[in-house]
Amino acid sequence: MRIGIGYDIHRFDGKRPLKLGGVTIPHARGLAGHSDADVLLHALADALFGALGEPDLGEQFPPSDPRWRNADSRTFIKTACAAMRRRGLAVGNVDTTVIADAPKLTGYKRRMSRAISALLGVAPGQVSVKGKTTEGLAPGKAGIAAHAVVLLTAAQGSRLKARGRSRGR
Ligand SMILES: [Zn+2]
Repeated sequence: MRIGIGYDIHRFDGKRPLKLGGVTIPHARGLAGHSDADVLLHALADALFGALGEPDLGEQFPPSDPRWRNADSRTFIKTACAAMRRRGLAVGNVDTTVIADAPKLTGYKRRMSRAISALLGVAPGQVSVKGKTTEGLAPGKAGIAAHAVVLLTAAQGSRLKARGRSRGR
């Protein structure tokens, strides 16, 4: 088993659509960033890379690289998932918290969890998206932050092998 933690924060930018967890959420302001600025997927990507012991998101997809300008952040998750599968690992579960005073996320949490689970190829029950405000304290007014924790387990084939070993003991 491997565990990973990820954190990210982006400022509001009035000229962009708001993307969270791969879902476009109607709001007056989106987030500033080199890519599509999906703060939740960035936190998740860093949790996955962290669990794998790989370089962080900023190192693998540097903002200085024009290739990642306005990039769909789902690409980062797909890259992390490919690395995970190469190592015979699978997502056990994901837990996340989005910290935003606006917009209200209540109506979108389930949709974000479904979008993330589809992206990871797991059941929606394996992905939790929680919402939190800052009660008006900074930086909740200026942008959105996100935390993510992932637990990776042996993929099915390698888990069977592991069970066979323990039975022989
Ligand atoms: Zn980011």
